[in-house]
Amino acid sequence: MAQKTALIVYAHQSSASFNAAVLDVAVQELTEQGYRVIVSDLYAMKFRADTTQDDIIGDLKNPELFQYGEETMHAWMEGRLSDDIVAEQRKLEQAELVIFQFPLYWFSVPGIMKGWMDRVLTQGFAFSLEKMYNNGTFKGKKAMLSFTTGATQSMFQPDGINGDINITLWPLQSGTLHFCGFQVLAPQIFWSPAHCPPLVRTALLEGWRARLKGLLTEKPLNFAPCELFDLSFQGKFLLWPKVKEEQESKPYGITTGHHLGKPLPPDNQTKAQPRDENKPDCTD
Ligand SMILES: Cc1cc2nc3c(=O)[nH]c(=O)nc-3n(C[C@H](O)[C@H](O)[C@H](O)COP(=O)(O)OP(=O)(O)OC[C@H]3O[C@@H](n4cnc5c(N)ncnc54)[C@H](O)[C@@H]3O)c2cc1C
Repeated sequence: MAQKTALIVYAHQSSASFNAAVLDVAVQELTEQGYRVIVSDLYAMKFRADTTQDDIIGDLKNPELFQYGEETMHAWMEGRLSDDIVAEQRKLEQAELVIFQFPLYWFSVPGIMKGWMDRVLTQGFAFSLEKMYNNGTFKGKKAMLSFTTGATQSMFQPDGINGDINITLWPLQSGTLHFCGFQVLAPQIFWSPAHCPPLVRTALLEGWRARLKGLLTEKPLNFAPCELFDLSFQGKFLLWPKVKEEQESKPYGITTGHHLGKPLPPDNQTKAQPRDENKPDCTD
């Protein structure tokens, strides 16, 4: 059987960080499982995050009005994207599993990783109007977010100060990963490692190792398939009226994004990991 490939896109500046320890566990464990593991260590690579004309080799189609999406789509079609983008696209093509490893920055990925998404997931290569969501380019691949936070888990509950983590994760997991077709595995969240005692941190790493052993047997997160929508310009990409009618009697919305004004389906963007109310959050 052909060897499987995992790509880990990694963004942390320090090899002594908890993120580095999480990365090490993933590399060890996946290698032991027989994977070929490729790591894109974005800070070490000094990966450029800005989306500019430098990403296109040769003449622009419209030098008067620079449109990054249009120009990079043509450059991709004509083999004129810059070498650093092409190198990442080759890695992505080879990978069956993609893990994004990062510290949560402003409810999202660090800028350098956002730059990877902006630049590597080129229109045409990663998506098109015909190839999106469950019909997307990467529908045969799995992807997941693995990240650390400064905040505790309770702060990201629906009644916590930061609000529901399911909402925080929707733009990345639905708007980016699933948009490009990936089957998205539940995120691995390391809550507030800087405020945990060392033994708890060790246990978190062992929990990660245990999860990795069965990762590919996990059921991906649930998203609304394209077939529920009228994908014509007259239909405005809205839910079919019949589907909307069927949803009326349901207690929850379809997904975090398609809530239809109802309560959000619980744990739509996370694995059900109910917080043990009797266990204190990690605090110093
Ligand atoms: C610009 C910015 C924006 C941010 N926005 C948010 C936000 O929106 N929401 C939010 O919640 N947080 C936010 N944060 C906080 C950030 O997410 C956390 O600081 C980060 O996730 C902590 O992870 P780390 O790997 O950097 O931890 P580190 O500080 O590197 O590690 C934590 C502890 O783990 C120890 N450690 C390292 N290796 C091991 C090992 N092998 N075993 C056991 N322990 C080990 C380290 O020594 C350290 O004591 C933000 C931070 C910044 C800078």
